[in-house]
Amino acid sequence: MGLNGQLISIIDLHTHSSASDGRLTPAQLAHAAADAGVECLALTDHDSTAGLAAARSAALQRGLRFINGVEISVTWQARSLHMVGLGIDPQAPMLRRGLLELQAKRRTRAQAIAGKLEKLGVKNAYAQAEQAADGGQITRTHFARLLIQAGLCQTMQQCFKRYLKPGKPGYTRVEWAELEQAIDWIHTADGVAVLAHPLAYGMTSAWRARMFRAFVHSGGDAVEVHCGASSPAQVQLSAKEANEHKLLGSVGSDFHGPEQRWLKLGRVLTLPATVAPVWSHPRLREDYPKP
Ligand code: AMP
Ligand code: MN
Ligand code: MN
Ligand code: MN
Repeated sequence: MGLNGQLISIIDLHTHSSASDGRLTPAQLAHAAADAGVECLALTDHDSTAGLAAARSAALQRGLRFINGVEISVTWQARSLHMVGLGIDPQAPMLRRGLLELQAKRRTRAQAIAGKLEKLGVKNAYAQAEQAADGGQITRTHFARLLIQAGLCQTMQQCFKRYLKPGKPGYTRVEWAELEQAIDWIHTADGVAVLAHPLAYGMTSAWRARMFRAFVHSGGDAVEVHCGASSPAQVQLSAKEANEHKLLGSVGSDFHGPEQRWLKLGRVLTLPATVAPVWSHPRLREDYPKP
């Protein structure tokens, strides 16, 4: 690793397990990552740290470096943003309390969404979603899968576009955490705050600049520069914006499961040499691959 700052080992700092909307259990995810050649893995489930212990133990068995992570739901300017926390202590009291609140909001929202989808013809939507989540967080992904099973949509994309996005009949608004709050929870848990997938919010560049300023003003540390299936042009744009706002850069697949055929664990995610990597942050260094 480390050639001109160019990333050559396989580092994946954004993934999901069955503790939220991923298909694999935390241990299966760690094994799949090891099989795919990942050397350093962070598990970042939506509003939950429940999978970390099992993922860590499997990752260590396979000789992977493992970083504790979480992806916190935030409402900023009436929009949903995602904050990834890396290197967090899941026992830290503020973070724990904050995530418990978000989990309660998720349950209330899931009941509301289920009620709406039942009217649209999905039978027993809440019970089915709860069963599919199997003790993990219920997300819109679970409802999207139900819509497909019920034959109301063919693809996940369609489910969100027709039913689950703001303005659509299955959508239910939630006030998630505030931006400053989420960053404080991450920092008081000794973690590093990363703005997830900045190009996935459908913002104009002016709105993005506002978001970056608010994130930096609230103490944010890093931004995802290469996430999921980012194109080279998107990576370049995010690298430029990371530098403009003096943020470190992170990389992650946002892997949810093998059914996302366009998105693989273990893809080499590159961070342009101009961006300082988030893994150089003092709070993460010890968890990172030895030189
Ligand atoms: P939630 O946090 O419960 O609102 O669910 C958000 C999750 O839904 C995201 O993390 C994605 O995994 C998934 N998602 C959102 N939009 C789409 C989309 N257009 N296609 C597929 N999955 C999506
Ligand atoms: Mn997700
Ligand atoms: Mn996200
Ligand atoms: Mn994610």
